[in-house]
Amino acid sequence: MTSAHLVFARKYRPQKFKDVVRQQVAVRALQNALESGRLGSAYLFFGPRGVGKTTLARILAKRVNCHAPVDGEPCDECESCISILNGNSMDVLEIDAASNRGIHNIRELRENVKFQPMASKKKVYIIDEVHMLTTESFNALLKTLEEPPPFVLFILATTEFNKIPETILSRCLVFALRKVPLKVVQEYLRDMCEKESIPVEEEALFWIARRGDGSVRDSLSFLEQAVTYCGKNITTEQVKELLGAVPLDLFIGLTENLLNASSDVNKLLEPVHDTFATGGDLGRFVWEYLDFLRTAIHIRHGIEDPEFLGLPGTETQKIRALFGAVDPGKLTFLFDSVYELLSRSYALRLRNSYETRVLIEIELLSLRDRLSRPSISGILTRLNRLGAAIHQGTAYSPESDLQKKFLGTVIEPGSIPGLED
Ligand SMILES: [Zn+2]
Repeated sequence: MTSAHLVFARKYRPQKFKDVVRQQVAVRALQNALESGRLGSAYLFFGPRGVGKTTLARILAKRVNCHAPVDGEPCDECESCISILNGNSMDVLEIDAASNRGIHNIRELRENVKFQPMASKKKVYIIDEVHMLTTESFNALLKTLEEPPPFVLFILATTEFNKIPETILSRCLVFALRKVPLKVVQEYLRDMCEKESIPVEEEALFWIARRGDGSVRDSLSFLEQAVTYCGKNITTEQVKELLGAVPLDLFIGLTENLLNASSDVNKLLEPVHDTFATGGDLGRFVWEYLDFLRTAIHIRHGIEDPEFLGLPGTETQKIRALFGAVDPGKLTFLFDSVYELLSRSYALRLRNSYETRVLIEIELLSLRDRLSRPSISGILTRLNRLGAAIHQGTAYSPESDLQKKFLGTVIEPGSIPGLED
């Protein structure tokens, strides 16, 4: 990533508690603790990457040492705030546990902890990726956490909560930071584009936010790329192109052709050939098709929430219009078969895309054939109708032809010799 891509993420990195997007629980608890003077000596922030753990840790460090807080926020103007902003504070130390995981690193830290802060109220240690510490290092850290000097504040951050020893957890106040909902990220990006006077299509923002997967920072980086790629005006089409995702229409077409027993074979296999010919990743193609089917199944069952589906409303309507009447059993069957195909390609450890292509082609042809046979749920429905018809003594409907076709012989009432009244 070039430095240009970091501009938005850096420029819009929250500097105050109120700017942190959607982590109210942690923010409120920290602000209350600060106001009532009951700040703990160790905190642990956990959550997926990019949700603001280090950002929040830095804001807390600034606030704790700020000479003149304003409305419970760091002022960003005093000497202490500025040195933390510039990353050259002597009293706020950031340690990346991924590259400093050894016992000597923690021993050094333990020695260091004893000394008073140089110019601040508190000496703050921000230990990122703390789950990476070795067992020995955790034990050494624990000793410090058990008897921390009054002028020390520890802020630990991790993406892997289950790797933190219970003994460490019991010494920390733990806050879970969550992924930011897609809708909230989308709104945030919209506001930002307005501030930056960047014309952008609403649906393009949806795809950018989706790509960010709950992280404002990642979404901003992606927006930055979109600005570079699209130029003045960010359109949905261009963003999708940039995403490199297989177009939805292609999967819609593939599904239609699979469900239609008389579809043209060339048409059916076209998406696979195209992906192969353009050097696309066929493994990813299959995975994305599986994801598409998941969405189609949910839509078939009446789910429309864009957040849940990961799809904007316009696309949802399109899928509902096309597959709203398809037997849900067929869609599930399709999903299971494609899932099996994916697992098989992993199990076989296919070496190149040609091998994958062969496997996919044959599976698609076989799938279309199998789909043209009636599904179990279809047969059951017909049997039920048949049962009801017999019960009511009504004559057979045209369904009897279907019964003959699928179940073999249809037993007509009165047709069995020796059973006549
Ligand atoms: Zn300040």
